[in-house]
Amino acid sequence: MAKRRIAILGSTGSIGTQTLDVIRQHPDLFEVVLISARNNVSLLVEQAREFDADNVVICNEEKFPELQKALEDTDCKVWEGVESLCRLVQADNVDIVVGAMVGFSGLKPTMSALEAGKIVALANKETLVAAGSIVTETMRRHNALILPVDSEHSAIFQCLLAAQGNEIEKIHLTASGGPFRTWNKERMAAATAAQALKHPNWNMGAKVTIDSATMMNKGFEVIEAKWLFDVEPARINVVIQPESIIHSMVEFTDGAVIAQLGYPDMREPIGFALSFPSRVTVGNRKLNLAELGSITFSEPDLEKFPCLRLAYEAIERGGNAPCALNAANEIAVAKFLRNEIGYFDIARINEKCLKNLDFIANPSLEDIYETNREIASIANDCLD
Ligand code: MG
Repeated sequence: MAKRRIAILGSTGSIGTQTLDVIRQHPDLFEVVLISARNNVSLLVEQAREFDADNVVICNEEKFPELQKALEDTDCKVWEGVESLCRLVQADNVDIVVGAMVGFSGLKPTMSALEAGKIVALANKETLVAAGSIVTETMRRHNALILPVDSEHSAIFQCLLAAQGNEIEKIHLTASGGPFRTWNKERMAAATAAQALKHPNWNMGAKVTIDSATMMNKGFEVIEAKWLFDVEPARINVVIQPESIIHSMVEFTDGAVIAQLGYPDMREPIGFALSFPSRVTVGNRKLNLAELGSITFSEPDLEKFPCLRLAYEAIERGGNAPCALNAANEIAVAKFLRNEIGYFDIARINEKCLKNLDFIANPSLEDIYETNREIASIANDCLD
C-alpha cells in the first residue's frame, strides 16, 4: 500500500484522537498533512508537533493568535476559519479526508472535499442526514468516494463486499439501546445529562452519546444507511443487541445473513476506512466467542425512544425534513446537556420542529443551510 496522506477534520475529538492513534501505529503507511479543531488549541498544538502536520486549522477565529504563537517555532502552517479548511482539503497533497467534526458544521468542508474528488472517511453522520441526496450526488459527479467510519455502516459496507452485485433484501442495524434500555418511562423522564453520558459500551463524544441515549443516533443511522447503500428505510430493521458485538448485518434474497463482529472499538472501522481495501492492525482486543457466551436481541421500544420513530417519519417525508430533524436535535441536545430540559423534551422539540417545517421537496444546498438556520432558531425558542 502506497503511503496515504490524511487530513483530519476534528482531530481533537473522540474520532479524531482515535484516528491519530491508528496512524501512530503505522507511520510507514499514513502521514498526517492537515489537522483541524474548533476550540481545543492545546491538544491541537500537541498533535501538530507529534505528527509534524503541514497545515493546522482552528475554526474558532478567536483562538487563532493563541495557536499561531504556540506553533511559531515549528514548520507547521497555521490557518483560521472553516473557509481555510474548505480550501486546504482540496489540495493535491491530501489523499483521504477524515470527517470527524460534530453535527451540521461538518457539511461544508465535506462538500469541499467531495468536490475535489477526494476519498472521505465519514464519521460525521449529520452531513448525510441533513443533505444526503446533495452529498451523494456531489460524490458521484466528482468521482469522489465516501467510506463509512460509523461502526454499523462500516459493518454493512464490509458485509456488502460479499454481495457480488446481488440486491440487498434487508439491513439489520444493531443498536446497544444505550444507558436507558432497561429503565422505565418514569425514570427516563427524570434522567440527567450525567446519566445519559454513561454509555454502557462505547466511549464517544457528548453529542453522539446523548443521541445514543435517545436512539436519535440510531434513527440518523437509518438515514445514513439509506444514502450510503441506496436502501429504502422500510428495508432497514433496527434491532437491539446490548452487547454491541455484531456491528450490523445484511440479509440477501435467499435469506442468507452476513454479519460483522468485534468488540466495540472505533479504531477498527477507522483503520478499515484508512487502509481500504487492505486491512491493518489497530491495537484492539480480538474477539473471544466462548468467553462472550451469548448475544441477545430484542425490538426497540418506540414509546421510550420516540426519536427513532421521528427519524423514520422524516426520511419517509424526504426533502428538507431530515435536515430539520437534525437541526432541532442539535439544539435540543445542547439544552439537555446544559440541564435546561428533560429527556423527553428532546423528542418533543424535534417533533414540534418537524411539524412547523416549511417543507421543500427538492432542496438546494442553500435551502438546506436556510432550513438549518430557521429550525435552529425555532428549536431555541421552544421553552417546553
Ligand atoms: Mg454508530
